[in-house]
Amino acid sequence: MKDNVKYVVQAKRWNQKIGVKAIQEIVAAIKHYKADKGMVITNNYFTKNAENLARTNEVELWDRNKLISFMSQVRGQGLVNSLTVEEPIEKGRESCPRCSNKLVVRSGSRGKFMGCSSFPKCRYTADYRESVL
Ligand SMILES: [Zn+2]
Repeated sequence: MKDNVKYVVQAKRWNQKIGVKAIQEIVAAIKHYKADKGMVITNNYFTKNAENLARTNEVELWDRNKLISFMSQVRGQGLVNSLTVEEPIEKGRESCPRCSNKLVVRSGSRGKFMGCSSFPKCRYTADYRESVL
């Protein structure tokens, strides 16, 4: 990802193929967050209709195959050990009240929470609530 392009990323862990609804959601999120591009990542696959809709809306789709090849690639280079997926955060709670750095959604043993992006320098965390679009 380039620094000058703002992405909205949505991660879907579903046990079925991702349909057009997920693409419509990310298209709405691109507008809402004034992003340039969207990306939907899943451990499953996309339907043909979802792929077509994504292609006309600047939405990148990462299905299981692409995710696995990406993960093995970055692991092979020793760059990262795990993929941290940033998700959109509800308005007004985007920045850390302690150091005013960006808050990101992280996954811990007790589920999702919001943490400061300057961790471990700043250890601020907050409860995560799904943003409603
Ligand atoms: Zn902070």
